[in-house]
Amino acid sequence: MAERYYQKDMECASREEMVALQNERLVAQVKHVWDNVPYYRKKMEEKGVTPDDIKGIEDLHKLPFLTKDDLREAYPYGLLAKPLADCVRIQSTSGTTGKRVVAFYTQHDVDLWEDCCARAIVAAGGTNEDVCQVAYGYGLFTGGPGMNGGSHKVGCLTLPMSSGNTDRQLQFMTDLGATIICCTPSYAEYLAESIHERGLRDQIKLKAGIFGAEAWSEEMRHDIEAQLGLKAYDIYGLTETSGPGVAFECSEQTGMHINEDHFIAEIIDPDTLEVLPEGSQGELVFTSITKEAFPLLRYRTKDITVLSREKCSCGRTLVKMHKPMGRSDDMLIVKGVNVFPSQIEAVLLENGYPANYQIVVDRVNHSDTIEVLVEMTPEIFSDSLGHITEMEKELVSALKAMLGIYAKVRLVEPKSIARSEGKAVRVIDKRKI
Ligand SMILES: [Zn+2]
Repeated sequence: MAERYYQKDMECASREEMVALQNERLVAQVKHVWDNVPYYRKKMEEKGVTPDDIKGIEDLHKLPFLTKDDLREAYPYGLLAKPLADCVRIQSTSGTTGKRVVAFYTQHDVDLWEDCCARAIVAAGGTNEDVCQVAYGYGLFTGGPGMNGGSHKVGCLTLPMSSGNTDRQLQFMTDLGATIICCTPSYAEYLAESIHERGLRDQIKLKAGIFGAEAWSEEMRHDIEAQLGLKAYDIYGLTETSGPGVAFECSEQTGMHINEDHFIAEIIDPDTLEVLPEGSQGELVFTSITKEAFPLLRYRTKDITVLSREKCSCGRTLVKMHKPMGRSDDMLIVKGVNVFPSQIEAVLLENGYPANYQIVVDRVNHSDTIEVLVEMTPEIFSDSLGHITEMEKELVSALKAMLGIYAKVRLVEPKSIARSEGKAVRVIDKRKI
């Protein structure tokens, strides 16, 4: 089947066309921010940069960075670049770590954001014949509203389910014949488990899932695809830069295309803050060149990834970002070693365990400890009698090979780890309590 695009002229533009567009939009955006955001203007002045110094993307590196701390400091209105009379919406982060981040949107901003989400749905094979079940949370969280708007633009019949209420999710999914599901990957796993338990597998018509808002491993992708009989696509975004749809996966499923007509991506060394050459692993930095109300320049995402301009079989020319190893917010430092929950998840799935696990980090006698609670499936549980210690030992050595440190493993009974309907709680760090 021929590849379909939502906005082909942008998604398949030549590199020259895209650079010309980015140059023009960046110059205008820097001027807009300079004129309307005193907070950022001051940062530019401190660095000795004025809008005249920015002639195109090759000058991007001259601009100062923004971090989450800036957003907290400027809360709530300090980075707003439009009069409130022109703003129609806010969205916000969950605020689990400190003060919330509030992002503002004009109607034009909402429109472009929904276009980005529509690109993701079309790239996942969505058309106006589809029934798209949006099971991300609605409200302040960007997941539900973003995908809802994108689904409307594509012309799908949209089921605005929001997260949770699994019985109702499954009823609508089967009664209305949902073909596309949008939710967190951990909730997709939970839905798959519930479908299996209720014997509904043959009533499910899903062909594609668009899963984001948390880091997930390639092993988890294969598991969800096998269990739900669909193709699982990754999607990336963050509240600060509008929400889901900053980058999206295509049929090749080898990374996410960044919507470069709206966002310029850079990779920097998080320690020296130097821009790294293409293909290097480092921290992802975004500059939004079309946002009116909340236009962040050089925003440090803290996500560690790699950009690639290798030709993609889907025909899109937009640069691709690899699946981030995990938000550096999610990264644990245990005994001086960087540990991402997604690495642990990969080991568990490779060894035949489900993605129901919890990582408990503690400090005992001034030394870090890490324990992984792993839930057994009913099948593993009934086969495990007398073998538990052996099975735990096997996982300990597999984890040691991946992480380089000793992690205690405890296999626990089926259903003993709480399920999540939104973002899963994978880590309990008692060192912070
Ligand atoms: Zn592609």
